[in-house]
Amino acid sequence: MKCVLTCFVFIASLSAASLAQVPETGRWQDLDFSESDVSSRTDDKYWDMLVDLSRRGRLDDDPVLLGRVKSIATTLIRAAAAVKPETATWNWEIHTSSDPGIDAFCMAGGKLLIGSEFVRKLRLDDGELATLIGHEVAHAVADHHREFLSSVLHVSPLPATTLDVTLSRLDSDLSLQMKMATLASIQETEADQLGMVLAHRAGWPAAAMVNFYRKLVMTEKPSIFAASHPAATSRLSMAQAMAILLEP
Ligand SMILES: [Zn+2]
Repeated sequence: MKCVLTCFVFIASLSAASLAQVPETGRWQDLDFSESDVSSRTDDKYWDMLVDLSRRGRLDDDPVLLGRVKSIATTLIRAAAAVKPETATWNWEIHTSSDPGIDAFCMAGGKLLIGSEFVRKLRLDDGELATLIGHEVAHAVADHHREFLSSVLHVSPLPATTLDVTLSRLDSDLSLQMKMATLASIQETEADQLGMVLAHRAGWPAAAMVNFYRKLVMTEKPSIFAASHPAATSRLSMAQAMAILLEP
């Protein structure tokens, strides 16, 4: 699955840098942008996408899948609140889309969008779908978007300005893209691990989680996201090890 970490166009103001720790994994993060700034811009981007998808008849156009996704996501959102209590106050949004370019993502603050073509292609049962959604919820719980945006400023040799200018540099600066790919890969692995913890807390079986990553191996193709995503075989190995820890 690919996430849309690099698809945001934000104009966010810098606040005092702060350190935070990711729930469960304990990894330290530098968070320069304020949560409210990032969430505000994320919300704008998310709603713009929904409006566009709706206009094209591609939003929530599979009622059965939408019902499954909402039901499963509810269990994971409850689990998220157990590891990060403030997520219980977030305005979570859950939608699906038949746009073939959308796999799955969850923007900062809990804005989920699940691609029906991706779910259909992998023939995900409920436990496997919970693993996919758990991975995306984990990105939001771990504040990955905010960390990613902050880190762009850290690795760029140019003075920090608005974030949309910074992301314009990302689009044209290959070395900057490579530097960011390292963090993106770390975040993907972390979302895999935290997502499985959330899915386990929500009551989904570890065997289904491993099956999901096995299906990723079977469907993996060379991609421009290869540098920012761990290989599917590595993700499967991690999932198998996590499954033993979760269900000894
Ligand atoms: Zn991801």
